[in-house]
Amino acid sequence: MNYLVFKSLHIISVVTWFAGLFYMPRLFVYFAEAETKNPAEKKILQDQFKIMQRRLWYGITWPSAIAVLIFGSILAAQFWPITQYPWLVLKLGFVALLYAYHIFLHAIFKQQQNNNISFSPLALRVINEISTIFLVAIVFLVVLKNVLSMVYGIVGLFVLVAILMIAIKAYKKIREREEFSMPELKNINNDDWKTKLNEEEYKILRMCGTERPFAGEYYLFFESGIYTCAGCGHELFSSETKYDSGSGWPAFYDVIGTKNIRLIEDQSLGMKRVEVRCSYCDSHLGHVFEDGPRPTGLRYCINSIALKHHKS
Ligand SMILES: [Zn+2]
Repeated sequence: MNYLVFKSLHIISVVTWFAGLFYMPRLFVYFAEAETKNPAEKKILQDQFKIMQRRLWYGITWPSAIAVLIFGSILAAQFWPITQYPWLVLKLGFVALLYAYHIFLHAIFKQQQNNNISFSPLALRVINEISTIFLVAIVFLVVLKNVLSMVYGIVGLFVLVAILMIAIKAYKKIREREEFSMPELKNINNDDWKTKLNEEEYKILRMCGTERPFAGEYYLFFESGIYTCAGCGHELFSSETKYDSGSGWPAFYDVIGTKNIRLIEDQSLGMKRVEVRCSYCDSHLGHVFEDGPRPTGLRYCINSIALKHHKS
Protein backbone atom coordinates (compact mmCIF):
# COMPACT_ATOMS: atom_id res chain seq x y z
CA MET A 1 0.00 0.00 0.00
CA ASN A 2 0.95 3.57 -0.63
CA TYR A 3 2.84 5.61 2.00
CA LEU A 4 0.12 8.30 1.97
CA VAL A 5 -2.59 5.73 2.65
CA PHE A 6 -0.76 4.61 5.80
CA LYS A 7 -0.16 8.22 6.73
CA SER A 8 -3.92 8.91 6.48
CA LEU A 9 -4.77 5.83 8.56
CA HIS A 10 -2.13 6.88 11.08
CA ILE A 11 -3.58 10.39 11.41
CA ILE A 12 -7.11 9.01 11.80
CA SER A 13 -6.04 6.68 14.61
CA VAL A 14 -4.07 9.49 16.29
CA VAL A 15 -7.21 11.67 16.26
CA THR A 16 -9.42 8.95 17.78
CA TRP A 17 -6.72 8.03 20.30
CA PHE A 18 -6.49 11.63 21.47
CA ALA A 19 -10.27 11.85 21.62
CA GLY A 20 -10.16 8.99 24.14
CA LEU A 21 -7.18 10.45 26.03
CA PHE A 22 -8.96 13.79 26.34
CA TYR A 23 -12.35 12.48 27.36
CA MET A 24 -11.30 9.66 29.69
CA PRO A 25 -9.84 11.84 32.49
CA ARG A 26 -13.03 13.91 32.23
CA LEU A 27 -15.02 10.80 33.15
CA PHE A 28 -12.54 10.24 36.00
CA VAL A 29 -13.29 13.77 37.24
CA TYR A 30 -17.06 13.18 37.11
CA PHE A 31 -16.65 9.87 38.94
CA ALA A 32 -14.52 11.49 41.68
CA GLU A 33 -16.91 14.43 42.00
CA ALA A 34 -19.83 12.04 42.55
CA GLU A 35 -18.10 11.02 45.83
CA THR A 36 -19.56 14.06 47.51
CA LYS A 37 -23.18 13.20 46.62
CA ASN A 38 -25.48 11.41 49.03
CA PRO A 39 -24.96 7.61 49.04
CA ALA A 40 -27.87 6.67 46.80
CA GLU A 41 -27.19 9.41 44.26
CA LYS A 42 -23.48 8.60 44.31
CA LYS A 43 -24.13 4.96 43.46
CA ILE A 44 -26.43 5.85 40.56
CA LEU A 45 -23.96 8.34 39.07
CA GLN A 46 -20.84 6.27 39.56
CA ASP A 47 -22.41 3.14 38.06
CA GLN A 48 -23.29 5.16 34.98
CA PHE A 49 -19.80 6.69 34.69
CA LYS A 50 -18.22 3.25 35.01
CA ILE A 51 -20.24 2.02 32.01
CA MET A 52 -19.23 5.10 30.00
CA GLN A 53 -15.57 4.62 30.98
CA ARG A 54 -15.57 0.98 29.86
CA ARG A 55 -17.09 1.85 26.48
CA LEU A 56 -14.69 4.71 25.83
CA TRP A 57 -11.60 2.88 27.05
CA TYR A 58 -12.06 -0.52 25.42
CA GLY A 59 -14.19 0.62 22.49
CA ILE A 60 -12.15 3.59 21.26
CA THR A 61 -9.01 4.45 23.19
CA TRP A 62 -7.23 1.08 23.34
CA PRO A 63 -8.01 0.07 19.73
CA SER A 64 -6.77 3.50 18.56
CA ALA A 65 -3.56 3.25 20.60
CA ILE A 66 -2.83 -0.12 18.99
CA ALA A 67 -3.65 1.20 15.49
CA VAL A 68 -1.26 4.14 16.07
CA LEU A 69 1.47 1.69 17.01
CA ILE A 70 0.95 -0.40 13.86
CA PHE A 71 0.60 2.45 11.34
CA GLY A 72 3.27 4.55 13.08
CA SER A 73 5.78 1.68 12.86
CA ILE A 74 5.08 1.22 9.14
CA LEU A 75 5.70 4.95 8.57
CA ALA A 76 8.82 5.09 10.75
CA ALA A 77 10.32 2.23 8.69
CA GLN A 78 10.45 4.65 5.73
CA PHE A 79 12.84 6.87 7.69
CA TRP A 80 15.34 4.16 8.54
CA PRO A 81 17.86 4.77 10.13
CA ILE A 82 15.90 7.31 12.15
CA THR A 83 19.06 8.75 13.71
CA GLN A 84 19.34 10.86 10.55
CA TYR A 85 16.21 12.69 11.65
CA PRO A 86 16.63 14.27 15.11
CA TRP A 87 13.05 15.59 15.08
CA LEU A 88 11.76 12.05 14.55
CA VAL A 89 13.86 10.63 17.40
CA LEU A 90 12.46 13.30 19.68
CA LYS A 91 8.94 12.73 18.41
CA LEU A 92 9.20 9.00 19.10
CA GLY A 93 10.42 9.90 22.60
CA PHE A 94 7.22 11.90 23.13
CA VAL A 95 5.16 9.06 21.72
CA ALA A 96 6.79 6.64 24.18
CA LEU A 97 5.86 9.02 27.00
CA LEU A 98 2.35 9.23 25.61
CA TYR A 99 2.05 5.44 25.86
CA ALA A 100 3.30 5.68 29.44
CA TYR A 101 0.55 8.25 30.08
CA HIS A 102 -1.96 5.88 28.48
CA ILE A 103 -0.86 3.10 30.87
CA PHE A 104 -1.12 5.54 33.79
CA LEU A 105 -4.72 6.36 32.77
CA HIS A 106 -5.38 2.63 32.53
CA ALA A 107 -4.32 2.28 36.18
CA ILE A 108 -6.75 5.05 37.24
CA PHE A 109 -9.46 3.41 35.11
CA LYS A 110 -8.93 0.10 36.92
CA GLN A 111 -9.06 1.82 40.32
CA GLN A 112 -12.31 3.63 39.58
CA GLN A 113 -13.88 0.47 38.15
CA ASN A 114 -13.18 -1.04 41.59
CA ASN A 115 -14.62 2.04 43.32
CA ASN A 116 -11.24 3.27 44.56
CA ILE A 117 -10.53 6.98 44.45
CA SER A 118 -6.88 7.91 44.72
CA PHE A 119 -6.92 11.33 43.01
CA SER A 120 -9.00 14.38 43.90
CA PRO A 121 -11.16 15.94 41.18
CA LEU A 122 -8.68 18.83 40.95
CA ALA A 123 -5.69 16.48 40.53
CA LEU A 124 -7.63 14.66 37.79
CA ARG A 125 -8.34 17.94 36.02
CA VAL A 126 -4.60 18.61 35.97
CA ILE A 127 -3.93 15.07 34.71
CA ASN A 128 -6.50 15.82 32.00
CA GLU A 129 -4.26 18.57 30.60
CA ILE A 130 -1.24 16.30 30.08
CA SER A 131 -2.63 15.16 26.71
CA THR A 132 -2.64 18.80 25.56
CA ILE A 133 1.10 19.04 26.21
CA PHE A 134 1.77 15.94 24.14
CA LEU A 135 -0.50 17.08 21.36
CA VAL A 136 1.20 20.48 21.04
CA ALA A 137 4.74 19.06 21.30
CA ILE A 138 4.17 16.30 18.75
CA VAL A 139 2.29 18.42 16.20
CA PHE A 140 4.91 21.20 16.34
CA LEU A 141 7.69 18.67 15.84
CA VAL A 142 6.05 16.85 12.96
CA VAL A 143 5.00 19.97 11.10
CA LEU A 144 8.16 22.07 11.60
CA LYS A 145 10.58 19.11 11.74
CA ASN A 146 12.86 21.38 13.71
CA VAL A 147 13.94 20.80 17.30
CA LEU A 148 14.61 24.48 18.00
CA SER A 149 11.10 25.51 16.86
CA MET A 150 9.79 22.88 19.19
CA VAL A 151 11.67 24.46 22.09
CA TYR A 152 9.83 27.73 21.40
CA GLY A 153 6.67 25.69 21.13
CA ILE A 154 7.28 24.10 24.54
CA VAL A 155 7.99 27.48 26.16
CA GLY A 156 4.74 28.77 24.72
CA LEU A 157 3.10 25.64 25.98
CA PHE A 158 4.17 26.23 29.58
CA VAL A 159 2.54 29.65 29.37
CA LEU A 160 -0.56 27.91 28.02
CA VAL A 161 -0.47 25.37 30.86
CA ALA A 162 -0.23 28.17 33.43
CA ILE A 163 -3.29 29.85 31.87
CA LEU A 164 -5.13 26.52 31.81
CA MET A 165 -4.38 25.92 35.49
CA ILE A 166 -5.84 29.28 36.42
CA ALA A 167 -8.86 28.54 34.24
CA ILE A 168 -9.30 25.13 35.88
CA LYS A 169 -9.31 26.69 39.35
CA ALA A 170 -11.83 29.32 38.29
CA TYR A 171 -13.97 26.67 36.62
CA LYS A 172 -13.92 24.54 39.77
CA LYS A 173 -15.27 27.47 41.79
CA ILE A 174 -18.12 27.93 39.33
CA ARG A 175 -18.90 24.22 39.34
CA GLU A 176 -19.09 24.14 43.12
CA ARG A 177 -21.89 26.66 42.97
CA GLU A 178 -23.85 24.65 40.44
CA GLU A 179 -26.45 22.17 41.61
CA PHE A 180 -26.81 18.78 40.02
CA SER A 181 -29.85 19.14 37.80
CA MET A 182 -32.35 16.35 37.29
CA PRO A 183 -34.42 15.68 34.19
CA GLU A 184 -37.52 17.75 33.52
CA LEU A 185 -40.62 16.57 35.33
CA LYS A 186 -44.07 16.16 34.00
CA ASN A 187 -46.23 18.82 35.60
CA ILE A 188 -49.74 18.12 36.72
CA ASN A 189 -51.40 20.82 38.77
CA ASN A 190 -52.43 20.36 42.37
CA ASP A 191 -56.20 20.30 41.74
CA ASP A 192 -55.71 17.47 39.25
CA TRP A 193 -53.94 15.49 41.93
CA LYS A 194 -56.74 16.10 44.44
CA THR A 195 -59.29 14.58 42.07
CA LYS A 196 -56.98 11.77 40.95
CA LEU A 197 -55.95 10.58 44.42
CA ASN A 198 -57.91 9.77 47.58
CA GLU A 199 -57.24 11.79 50.70
CA GLU A 200 -54.67 9.46 52.19
CA GLU A 201 -52.80 9.01 48.91
CA TYR A 202 -52.74 12.78 48.43
CA LYS A 203 -51.31 13.32 51.91
CA ILE A 204 -48.44 10.91 51.29
CA LEU A 205 -47.69 11.30 47.59
CA ARG A 206 -48.13 15.04 47.25
CA MET A 207 -47.60 16.36 50.79
CA CYS A 208 -44.64 14.06 51.62
CA GLY A 209 -46.53 12.30 54.39
CA THR A 210 -45.69 8.92 55.95
CA GLU A 211 -48.14 6.10 56.59
CA ARG A 212 -48.35 4.42 60.00
CA PRO A 213 -45.70 1.71 60.42
CA PHE A 214 -46.68 -2.00 60.46
CA ALA A 215 -50.02 -1.08 58.89
CA GLY A 216 -49.43 -0.69 55.17
CA GLU A 217 -50.78 -3.12 52.59
CA TYR A 218 -47.36 -4.25 51.33
CA TYR A 219 -45.36 -4.30 54.55
CA LEU A 220 -45.62 -8.11 54.91
CA PHE A 221 -46.52 -8.84 51.31
CA PHE A 222 -44.03 -10.84 49.27
CA GLU A 223 -45.84 -12.00 46.14
CA SER A 224 -43.77 -11.81 42.99
CA GLY A 225 -44.36 -8.97 40.58
CA ILE A 226 -43.68 -5.35 39.84
CA TYR A 227 -44.47 -2.33 41.99
CA THR A 228 -45.51 0.80 40.15
CA CYS A 229 -46.03 4.38 41.32
CA ALA A 230 -49.53 4.92 42.74
CA GLY A 231 -49.48 8.39 41.25
CA CYS A 232 -48.68 7.64 37.61
CA GLY A 233 -48.12 3.91 37.08
CA HIS A 234 -44.40 4.31 36.39
CA GLU A 235 -42.48 1.07 37.20
CA LEU A 236 -40.38 1.47 40.34
CA PHE A 237 -39.46 -1.72 42.20
CA SER A 238 -39.40 -5.47 41.64
CA SER A 239 -40.49 -8.09 44.20
CA GLU A 240 -37.05 -9.66 43.64
CA THR A 241 -35.37 -6.90 45.63
CA LYS A 242 -38.06 -6.67 48.35
CA TYR A 243 -37.18 -7.83 51.84
CA ASP A 244 -38.41 -7.53 55.43
CA SER A 245 -36.39 -4.78 57.05
CA GLY A 246 -38.36 -4.96 60.32
CA SER A 247 -38.92 -1.21 60.13
CA GLY A 248 -42.67 -1.40 59.53
CA TRP A 249 -42.65 -0.24 55.90
CA PRO A 250 -42.01 -2.09 52.63
CA ALA A 251 -38.28 -2.22 51.96
CA PHE A 252 -36.32 -2.80 48.75
CA TYR A 253 -32.57 -2.95 48.32
CA ASP A 254 -32.68 -1.71 44.73
CA VAL A 255 -34.86 0.06 42.17
CA ILE A 256 -35.85 -1.25 38.72
CA GLY A 257 -33.89 1.53 37.05
CA THR A 258 -31.95 4.40 38.50
CA LYS A 259 -33.74 6.78 36.15
CA ASN A 260 -37.14 5.74 37.50
CA ILE A 261 -36.64 7.60 40.76
CA ARG A 262 -35.35 10.97 41.84
CA LEU A 263 -33.45 11.56 45.06
CA ILE A 264 -33.60 14.72 47.12
CA GLU A 265 -31.86 15.66 50.35
CA ASP A 266 -34.46 16.01 53.04
CA GLN A 267 -33.62 18.10 56.10
CA SER A 268 -37.12 17.97 57.64
CA LEU A 269 -37.80 16.65 61.18
CA GLY A 270 -34.28 17.70 62.19
CA MET A 271 -32.74 14.73 60.37
CA LYS A 272 -30.66 14.53 57.25
CA ARG A 273 -32.36 11.95 55.06
CA VAL A 274 -32.60 11.21 51.34
CA GLU A 275 -36.10 11.42 49.97
CA VAL A 276 -37.17 9.12 47.13
CA ARG A 277 -39.56 10.46 44.51
CA CYS A 278 -41.02 9.07 41.32
CA SER A 279 -38.98 10.59 38.50
CA TYR A 280 -42.01 10.78 36.23
CA CYS A 281 -44.73 12.44 38.35
CA ASP A 282 -42.56 13.65 41.23
CA SER A 283 -44.71 11.91 43.85
CA HIS A 284 -43.11 11.34 47.24
CA LEU A 285 -42.46 7.62 47.78
CA GLY A 286 -40.33 7.34 50.92
CA HIS A 287 -36.66 7.54 51.88
CA VAL A 288 -33.46 5.66 51.16
CA PHE A 289 -30.97 4.68 53.87
CA GLU A 290 -27.53 3.11 53.83
CA ASP A 291 -28.30 0.19 56.14
CA GLY A 292 -29.66 -2.20 53.52
CA PRO A 293 -28.47 -5.70 52.62
CA ARG A 294 -25.94 -6.64 49.97
CA PRO A 295 -25.26 -6.14 47.13
CA THR A 296 -26.27 -2.46 47.19
CA GLY A 297 -26.23 -1.81 50.95
CA LEU A 298 -29.25 0.42 50.40
CA ARG A 299 -32.70 0.31 52.01
CA TYR A 300 -35.46 1.99 50.05
CA CYS A 301 -38.08 2.48 52.74
CA ILE A 302 -41.30 3.12 50.79
CA ASN A 303 -44.91 3.81 51.79
CA SER A 304 -47.32 1.03 50.74
CA ILE A 305 -49.76 3.72 49.65
CA ALA A 306 -47.25 5.08 47.13
CA LEU A 307 -47.08 1.65 45.42
CA LYS A 308 -49.33 -0.59 43.35
CA HIS A 309 -48.40 -4.26 43.00
CA HIS A 310 -48.87 -6.05 39.67
CA LYS A 311 -48.52 -9.82 39.48
CA SER A 312 -45.86 -11.03 37.08
ZN1 LIG B 1 -45.14 8.55 39.58
